Amino acid sequence: MFRKTSIVLVFISFFLSANAQLKSPEEFLGYKIGSRYTPHWKIVNYFNHVATNSTATVKLEKYGETNEGRPLLVTFISSADNIQRLDAIRSNNLRLANLAKDKAAAIEENAPAIVWLSYNVHGNETSSSEAAMMTIWALVDPSNNKTKEWLKNTVVVIDPCINPDGRDRYVNWFNSVVGKNANPQRISREHREPWPGGRTNHYNFDLNRDWAWQTQIESQQRIKLYSQWMPQVHVDYHEQGANEPYYFAPAAQPYHDVITPWQRDFQVTIGKNHAKYFDANGWLYFTKEVFDLYYPSYGDTYPVYNGAIGMTYEQGGGPAGGTAVINDEGDTLTLLDRATHHFTTGLSTIEISSLNASKLVKEFRKFFNDAVTNGAGEYKTYVVKNLPKDKERIDAFLELLDKNGIQYGNGSGAGKGYNYQTGKEEAFTMSNDIVVSSLQPRSTMVKVLFEPKGKLVDSATYDITAWALPYAYGLEAYASRDKINTNGAVSRAVINNEDATYGYVIPWNGTKTVKVVGKLLQKGILLRYAEQPFEVNGNKFDRGAVIVLKTANKSFGSNLWSEVKKVADANSIRLYPVSTGFVDKGYDFGSDKVHPFKAPKVVLLTGEGIGGNAAGEIWHFFEQQIDYPLTLINANDIGRANWNDIDVIIMPDGNYRFLSDKAQADAFKDWINKGGRVVALEGAVGALAKADFGIKLRKAEEGDKKDDKIIYDVLKKFEERERDFIPNITPGSIYKVELDNTHPLAYGYPNYYYTLKMDDNVYDFIKEDGWNVGVIKKDNQVAGFVGSKLKNKLKDGLILGVQQVGGGLVTYLTDNVMFRNFWENGKLMFCNAVFLVGQ
Ligand SMILES: [Zn+2]
Repeated sequence: MFRKTSIVLVFISFFLSANAQLKSPEEFLGYKIGSRYTPHWKIVNYFNHVATNSTATVKLEKYGETNEGRPLLVTFISSADNIQRLDAIRSNNLRLANLAKDKAAAIEENAPAIVWLSYNVHGNETSSSEAAMMTIWALVDPSNNKTKEWLKNTVVVIDPCINPDGRDRYVNWFNSVVGKNANPQRISREHREPWPGGRTNHYNFDLNRDWAWQTQIESQQRIKLYSQWMPQVHVDYHEQGANEPYYFAPAAQPYHDVITPWQRDFQVTIGKNHAKYFDANGWLYFTKEVFDLYYPSYGDTYPVYNGAIGMTYEQGGGPAGGTAVINDEGDTLTLLDRATHHFTTGLSTIEISSLNASKLVKEFRKFFNDAVTNGAGEYKTYVVKNLPKDKERIDAFLELLDKNGIQYGNGSGAGKGYNYQTGKEEAFTMSNDIVVSSLQPRSTMVKVLFEPKGKLVDSATYDITAWALPYAYGLEAYASRDKINTNGAVSRAVINNEDATYGYVIPWNGTKTVKVVGKLLQKGILLRYAEQPFEVNGNKFDRGAVIVLKTANKSFGSNLWSEVKKVADANSIRLYPVSTGFVDKGYDFGSDKVHPFKAPKVVLLTGEGIGGNAAGEIWHFFEQQIDYPLTLINANDIGRANWNDIDVIIMPDGNYRFLSDKAQADAFKDWINKGGRVVALEGAVGALAKADFGIKLRKAEEGDKKDDKIIYDVLKKFEERERDFIPNITPGSIYKVELDNTHPLAYGYPNYYYTLKMDDNVYDFIKEDGWNVGVIKKDNQVAGFVGSKLKNKLKDGLILGVQQVGGGLVTYLTDNVMFRNFWENGKLMFCNAVFLVGQ
């Protein structure tokens, strides 16, 4: 008896002393949440503090690091019982989703619901990480009995900051400009964040557009962890304009048709629970508007397509919010208000999930059982042709499937289905092709990513409306209504073990080739490339093939081949050995149709006035994908550049003020005249058109006005004013562009290219001193939504072109071939513009 009591006493005193250490955010930070912004390292310290002092109910896991070296972490918070068996809960949850590797049966009964709260994906929507600290405190606060009750059947996962680099960019800037007291006037400088803003990550990527594509290190590491857990509920915290109130679920139309009735209904249940608290406090909010569920790469849709209830919550504020701001109504909105609202929806989400935990788990299981037995959508199988010429894009495509946990196999035999290229039902044969079945746990993701044409119930969406992978990756593919069996895994390894006597040929097929070529050039290895197709030693090569010759690289002696192979093997690039320079067809290697390949010195214009995302896509591509040297120069400093040191200037989407400064514009033109090469993308093409470079933007078709309908169109209803805008937009749809692939800009492509059309700009054909390399001739729309009034305009125009300006060249890429770095098939076009055009 005595002994037992003493153990209990020891236990109680340990418990009390442990909890005596546990501090609220205010006690820990030394200031009240909302009175100032908390830098990321202090948020990390607070979460570490909570985890260290609540070991029984909290587990902290560091899952990665950002580009700037800040830690990424999550905390699991639940009852002591649940935390003790946390890994068993995780494994069981994966079994419920048919995703576990073991064959053990899933147990539905008493499986807790998993609620994952993600904060601050947009770094300058800063109140949410402050709310994250309030939320974890409410969950561990010893005096809070309500939350203890919820945690009995709920595991809460808190990621306090998805985008620490962006958050600190904003917070460090804000703290450096705010005065002793906050100034709530909107015009004061603390409400005017400078370029490029803290919304994005280090490379200026929007991480809330990257969930499916995972081009960024933060998304890659986070979704790896997410896929090991697969929560039933996921919330993505945001802020909107400072004049807006609060937005929460249910979401706006359009909903993708894969979203189940349960997923729709439970959004309403959650929304009503939030409304109860907001009504009681007299807070303003809206639901069912603006934030739709369609594009698959958001923090709400991605979880929805992976079986969860995925939601976006939006507080008014953002970078214009500061710590206090007077809005247009004359009301003062404080950081404390913003954090308190996010804190309230966080607890309300946990509460309603706990109240419905068993139903959440049951419906989650049903979602995945339906996936493996019925599959989502009309197509049961997608077949992608495994053609050697497409190998690099296929590698990238398979990597994307792997990142998303989508299973695939090898297929052979006959089949029939929708041909993505022709748009027709056709018979086809398979020979070691890639087969993706729709009957698998990630069936919904498969349908969303592959379906040739999605159904849009409402076109007023927030984002692009088409992304089918065969178009984005430029792959030949079929969608079949039949089940097709697979036999074995797809093999992708490349090992170069054949020595060359005369040289090697590397086909110009993709960005890995570009990386290899760039690395060889940087080692000082001399290369050549062929302007025409050729055949040698029984192999056929297309235009752009790169040739490494022993004769040109004598200085490397016997090390040459091992140097070349090391680089090629590391990037899975096949080298074709050749024993002679005498080709069977085409031009010999010594011909002047086979050119020296020079390493260009490349500049990217960036800074104020330039699209941050657009410049970031190119910056990231050079550093992280092809690893080629790039000098970033602020566009407004271009006048100070040493022009002789630049071969290529890349102009991403943006306004270019220097073009209206005569001295700077003349220096720029002079450099081009002397042989400079420009690669202009999207809005930069428009800027050059305005500066009289010769290219001309197409005006709207005159024909439109003759249509009687247009006359009646002036009779608009006031309440339909938002809808009336729709005929004039293309939020991002796919067009087939006809290519002249004899021009270096289109080397490595068939005679077509699928472009993502984000605007209604087409340019007049270049009549002299240039080449119309990519054109839309008629209505070539393939997928996605295009407003009725634009369809007429988007035809018979230039999309991709090259113009001679004196001794130099300007390449026009009028659409974004690098879109979010997931439009894989555009990347080689961009490389051609930088590395091949004008060589
Ligand atoms: Zn946001």
